[in-house]
Amino acid sequence: MFNGTYYIETYGCQMNEHDSEKMAAMLEDLGMAQVWSAEDADVVVINTCSIREKAEHKVYSALGKLKHLKRKNPGMVIAVAGCVAQQGKSGLLAKIRHLDAVVGTHRIGELPEIVRRVQQRGERIEASDFSPDVASLHIPAPRKGRSPVCSYVTIMQGCSNFCSYCVVPYTRGPEQSRPLQEVVVEVEALANSGVREVTLLGQNVNAYGKDLGDGTSFVRLLDELDGVPGLSRIRFTTSHPKDFSEALAERMASLGSVCEHIHLPLQSGSDRVLLAMGRGYTRARYIEKIETLRRKVPGAAITADIIVGFPGETEEDFNQTMLALEEIRFDQIFSFKFSQRPGTRARNLPDQVPDEEKSARLAKVHELQDRITLEYHRDAEGSVYEILIEGIKHESGQVFGRTRTNKIVNVSLSDSVRTGDLTRVKITKGLKHSLFGEFV
Ligand code: SF4
Repeated sequence: MFNGTYYIETYGCQMNEHDSEKMAAMLEDLGMAQVWSAEDADVVVINTCSIREKAEHKVYSALGKLKHLKRKNPGMVIAVAGCVAQQGKSGLLAKIRHLDAVVGTHRIGELPEIVRRVQQRGERIEASDFSPDVASLHIPAPRKGRSPVCSYVTIMQGCSNFCSYCVVPYTRGPEQSRPLQEVVVEVEALANSGVREVTLLGQNVNAYGKDLGDGTSFVRLLDELDGVPGLSRIRFTTSHPKDFSEALAERMASLGSVCEHIHLPLQSGSDRVLLAMGRGYTRARYIEKIETLRRKVPGAAITADIIVGFPGETEEDFNQTMLALEEIRFDQIFSFKFSQRPGTRARNLPDQVPDEEKSARLAKVHELQDRITLEYHRDAEGSVYEILIEGIKHESGQVFGRTRTNKIVNVSLSDSVRTGDLTRVKITKGLKHSLFGEFV
């Protein structure tokens, strides 16, 4: 048992957030207590993201700041986990002399042992080999997750798609699915402990089960999870358009707990760019899938990722993206400038778009999407939605929750509602990023 303290700093996606929750639970099992600043910690873990250059720079800057803390407290253990660890491997230990351990994406389950070896034997450790059955995939979601009523549940890890711009297949390895029964048992246990909503996580959840070779599929998993006692809502992310099926749209329509929201990254509206990205669909095919979904699940919310400035993206290609945004009218998007990532095919493509041009295109995308999102939010005024209360913001005297379509709603605090309640709220104001409502 250790009696020390730990601090985890997390960068990147929900997978990383959830990995951090699991690492926190493992360190607490050792007897360690969480603190909220590196200054107060005996063990510091930087859980990293390398999807874009900017995210990677933030990691190096965070590590730089730890140097003087380590000088003041030489017993402090500093570990890097996640995608930067996976890519940097032993090179990180050579480059950053105050770093003690590099913990790759398949090896986070070994964190307690790694901390013990550093503390007791003063070793510097690199653990970053991929394994054919990722142990970390089987670590259950901790009870003390991001909220007492909402939990992430990993259903698979890795990706076998190799889109030309993306590091994930290199940092997380090939797709590996968790056995269906293991996921069901975990969700039942979470629901039993008070969790009302689970978000099933994977880089490409639509491919869930393919690698198991026993007929398991994502829709079968949803069939099994719908009706778990106590569980009100099931969300999932991320979906890949090429694998999105009519069967999934049908489940979203027919299974009571499956929420009417899908995150379906489009990335570009230009077929030429989609081909160069290796996405496996055209804009027309993507729109057909959206139409199927909207026909089967009226009112479903659709969100997406967009990349601007992919190498060779002309003004005309970019206009195609803008037209697609106008035509599809996503509820929300996450948009990024193309970033040259090591090891990816797109890194060395000719005709890289200058950064000022990427910034200008990104600003246009933001402006257009902000208008569309605000229109959706204004249209919601006067309508009544079911909200799951996720928590209380005491400083503003409000409770907050989300609609089934994943829109954040704030409501003035009421004595009669508790975190975890499913309640009906009338929207009184549609704002840029959220909705405001009153209980009905
Ligand atoms: S589907 Fe493409 S973008 Fe998504 S994680 Fe896999 S390789 Fe990356």
